[in-house]
This record gives sequence, structure tokens and C-alpha cells, in this order.
Amino acid sequence: MIKGGHALEMAHHVSALIFDKTGTLTEGNLRVTDTIILSPSLSEKKFYQLLGSAEMGSNHPIARSIVDHAQSLSCNLSQPEESTTIPGMGIQCIIQQKSFLAGNQKLLETNNIPLNDSIESELAQLEEQCKTVIFASYNDELLGLVAIADNIKPEAFSTVKELKKRNIDVWMVTGDNKHTAAAVAHEVGITQIYAQVLPEQKVDKVLQLQRRGFKVAMVGDGINDSPSLATADIGIAIGAGTVCFFSSSSFFFLLILNSYGTRISPLNLLI
Ligand code: ADP
Ligand code: MG
Repeated sequence: MIKGGHALEMAHHVSALIFDKTGTLTEGNLRVTDTIILSPSLSEKKFYQLLGSAEMGSNHPIARSIVDHAQSLSCNLSQPEESTTIPGMGIQCIIQQKSFLAGNQKLLETNNIPLNDSIESELAQLEEQCKTVIFASYNDELLGLVAIADNIKPEAFSTVKELKKRNIDVWMVTGDNKHTAAAVAHEVGITQIYAQVLPEQKVDKVLQLQRRGFKVAMVGDGINDSPSLATADIGIAIGAGTVCFFSSSSFFFLLILNSYGTRISPLNLLI
């Protein structure tokens, strides 16, 4: 389906391309791979009973992977009380009148919950493996942490390489922490990274590059990144087997539907 025309030409003028990380450069198929429990008297099952219940209040892909893992351990989960999302950081809820937090290191810092020095090397190792680490605390005590992995799409590296060959400046943007972002970027050959970016700040990154004179294409999966897809000179939303190009300025819209299941890779369609 094609509407309008001149944005097709615009595609030839794109000089910078920003990839969203999760679900775009990676498969978006998140799963729990490691658990480190820090609280001495806490069993793994009890840990996931608390964390899994807390994550029942969130619809973030991270939350879904934790709930799935807790259920695979036969934990009895229940909806949390007073659950709130803290943008770019995680979630907070109340369990038996006490505060439960799950999220990144920034969430711990904001709530003055110290990180035990002894886990720093393990944390660094997990992040070097491109994993996202989620910390869980209850009543101001750090209970433990969970590492979540997501596969990098096999064609991501060659796509980035080809774009660079065509003199396109390639960037990656993510809400994830700097270390995990750098590890994923390294795997796919991207050196320019915007990490720890809030969903609404993704738009600013597009605008910044536009102000520097770039014609910007933004590639995302539509989760968290719709405003930046709309702000870019060309927005490219890729889903499972579909690619959707659109440009708000020129009423251009193209949808390529892959009717052969996974045989055509959306990332390959970019080049
Ligand atoms: P992105 O989708 O790019 O990861 P988000 O802004 O959605 O960006 O999330 C940023 C970070 O906030 C995540 O990497 C994670 O560390 C934390 N976070 C978000 N939602 C949750 C959640 N439900 N549970 C734990 N951590 C979360
Ligand atoms: Mg995303």
C-alpha cells in the first residue's frame, strides 16, 4: 500500500538512521536467564512470588518475561496493590503495607538503596553479555537481581554495515542502561549510542540530529517510540514480518506485509 510519493525520494536523502534497541535490533523475545538472591533467608521461589506479583501490575515486556519465569517456577502470583510505573526506571507497588521496587540501577539510586560492592563484577559481566539487569527491593532492602536476555537479530550487523557503506550515520537509542546498550551496539557495529533515554526524550534525539542538518530515518517497533517515528523525516516501524514506512510531512505510507512468515527479514528490507 503506497500513499503519496515524494517521501520515497526522501528515502534516498536519508543521512542519519536511528535504531531503537529492543524489538528492533533485538528479537524482543525477552527471557530471564540469571537470578542472584542477596537476602540470606529468601528462597528463589519466594523471591519470584514477590517480584512476579509486583510485575503483574506492568505490561512492559520485561514484566512479562519475569511473570512467565515466576509461573514456570509454579509461584502463586497475585495483583499488587497501588502499582505505579516510574518512567525509564521501573515499577513501585505496595506489598503488605511496605514498598516494593523493581527496576534499574537508577531506580535504586533515586530511592537511596545502596548496591552491595560485592555484586559489581557480576553485574558488569551480565551487562557485557548484553543482558538487562533488574533489581528488586522490599522495605528498602535489596533482595536480589534478575538478568534478562534478548537475542540480537542475526541480520542486524550486516544491515548496519551496509548502511554505513552508503554513508548513512547510524545511531542506537534505548531506555536501557549505558553498559548493556554499549554491549549490544558493539555486537551490531554501532558506535553512536543514546542510552537511558525516556520514551518522550526519543523525540529530542531525532530533533537534535535534524538540527545538525541530517535527514533522519527512525526505525522502531512502535512500542515506546511512536512519537519519534512520527517526528523523523521517515519513520519505519518493523514488526514480525511487516515493515511500515511513513512520513507525516508528505503523507507517505508504505506497508510491506511478509506473507511468507519469517522468510523475509524486516531489517533486510531497509537496504
Ligand atoms: P526500553 O523499552 O527502551 O527498554 P523503557 O523506558 O521502557 O525503555 O525502560 C527503561 C528501563 O526501565 C528498562 O531497561 C528497565 O531497566 C526499566 N523498566 C521499565 N519497566 C520495567 C518493569 N516493569 N520492571 C522492571 N524494570 C523496568
Ligand atoms: Mg522498544
